[in-house]
Amino acid sequence: MLRSNSEDLIRKVIARFVDQEVIPVAEEHDRKGEFPVELFQKLGSMGVFGIRYPKSIGGSGGNTTLYCIIAEELARGLLSLAGTTAMQCLMGTDGLYRFGTKDMHETFLKPALRGKKIGAFQLTEPEAGSDLGNVRTTAVQDGDSFVINGMKTWSTSGPIADFHTVLCQTNPDKGLKGLMFFFVPSDIPGFSHSKRFETLGTRTTLLSEIYFNNCRVPSEYRLGQEGKGLKVLLSILAEIRAMTGALALGLLRAAMDASLRYAKERIQFGKPIGKNQLVQSKIAKMAVDLEASRLMVYNTARMIDSNESCLHQATMTKYFATEAACRATDEATRIFGGYGYSMEYPVQRYYRDSRFLLYGGGVHEVLQTNIAKHYGL
Ligand SMILES: Cc1cc2nc3c(=O)[nH]c(=O)nc-3n(C[C@H](O)[C@H](O)[C@H](O)COP(=O)(O)OP(=O)(O)OC[C@H]3O[C@@H](n4cnc5c(N)ncnc54)[C@H](O)[C@@H]3O)c2cc1C
Repeated sequence: MLRSNSEDLIRKVIARFVDQEVIPVAEEHDRKGEFPVELFQKLGSMGVFGIRYPKSIGGSGGNTTLYCIIAEELARGLLSLAGTTAMQCLMGTDGLYRFGTKDMHETFLKPALRGKKIGAFQLTEPEAGSDLGNVRTTAVQDGDSFVINGMKTWSTSGPIADFHTVLCQTNPDKGLKGLMFFFVPSDIPGFSHSKRFETLGTRTTLLSEIYFNNCRVPSEYRLGQEGKGLKVLLSILAEIRAMTGALALGLLRAAMDASLRYAKERIQFGKPIGKNQLVQSKIAKMAVDLEASRLMVYNTARMIDSNESCLHQATMTKYFATEAACRATDEATRIFGGYGYSMEYPVQRYYRDSRFLLYGGGVHEVLQTNIAKHYGL
């Protein structure tokens, strides 16, 4: 696969940032479960959050391939930082970029691209996970504004976000065809959130429920046309799935690097454990999974960059790379023996964090169904 100079340069810059500034503090942030504000703001000042957006609105003028390179490198260091970064680059800001007014760009988008404001993306509700046709948060027109009522759950950055892209129902009889996105700043009357959730992994990501109690937003805060919410979501779904594949690829690399180092260093029965064929088999499977994931992620990213229709490829990529990362992080904890169970080494974090990849962009049972559908089933 051909690589451009800008791809090599971005990879080098982000890899250096990860090695010098993320990896040394990753365990501490994970243990404390704190959002890494300084690292996030540094990424903002490096222009990372605007990678997909044109320079004319404060972006960096890049593309999906560069976005995936950033996601992969960051995930190698701290998956939760990579996840919140990916949210800020895409789902948290895309609707605002595409449908927001000039004023909204000045007030919200430009500061967000510099890491000065945080965006969140709200689809999921207690009764609407995979089944978005069941969204019950309503937006009702009242003169020149809309009144939003309802709740969302599993909101990434929910407790700290400055604004939200929220999937609402404007016509409850129409199910999926009544959906529409709205822009909701956190400081408007009627907006609130729960306390943060306790989670198994990606512990520096703050998640919460979000509540809308008669939240009144002006008509220009509509993101897209009435009834076209699903279409808006579908227009970035391939990118969401390619990006999740890139996160998985980065985590897989971290698990394999750690396993390889340990397999060479750890001596048992007078030789490195990596001299045993069963350990070699685990490493060989990781290496093949890594190569296949890399090819799939960057093939999908290049298809997106060439405006090719590739939701099917993106679905297979997210599914394969995530399953591969889950397998590799599990095997890594086995290669480390008892130390894989110790909080002293990062492989336990890789293993816990890997589960995060299973949900965003579609649960794997639904993805498998989508893949099979492509073949007429
Ligand atoms: C760490 C984390 C961060 C998240 N961040 C966000 C966020 O920022 N914004 C947001 O909107 N959401 C977010 N989510 C929510 C996420 O998108 C949902 O968890 C996901 O859509 C699945 O919904 P659910 O959890 O309700 O599972 P359900 O849809 O209830 O599915 C549960 C299980 O049922 C089975 N199942 C369901 N439907 C089918 C089917 N059609 N065929 C076969 N099996 C099926 C599968 O086994 C599935 O795993 C986040 C979740 C997590 C864990």
